[in-house]
Amino acid sequence: MGDHMNRLKEISELKRRADEFQLENREIIGKYTMSELCSIYNGIGSDAFPKWLRNIISSLHPSLAVVAFVHDVEWHESDGGKEKFVASNDRFKRNGYAVAKAQFGWYNPLRYVVMNQARRFGNVCQLFGWKAWTSPCECAVCQKKRKSEGK
Ligand SMILES: [Zn+2]
Repeated sequence: MGDHMNRLKEISELKRRADEFQLENREIIGKYTMSELCSIYNGIGSDAFPKWLRNIISSLHPSLAVVAFVHDVEWHESDGGKEKFVASNDRFKRNGYAVAKAQFGWYNPLRYVVMNQARRFGNVCQLFGWKAWTSPCECAVCQKKRKSEGK
């Protein structure tokens, strides 16, 4: 139960930050309930989101968590098309830059560390994420939906 509370706290903090930083495409977050967001964020299963990619995300600077949050919702909504795939990965970079600039002054080396990480992660997704993008999402929301549709 304590974990669940922490999780809800984490999600509401990420929602707040997405607004604070005016991240691109943050509107899509508003479509989901808190518990759905809990399932979607980090809940995109191993088939759709390979472990090594997930490991890279957890090694990113914590300030990029909110960028990964928006990115996860986009991947959850994946239509399997190339256009949105490219847009999502490019957006990760732009949102990452926005967060880095909002959080760290130009004189702070962390600004450039975080921007580099955002750019690299966007590139990694672009190069190696296609299979994940085109696989069915395994998060609890999608699994439930498929079950109710009898698939
Ligand atoms: Zn999903």
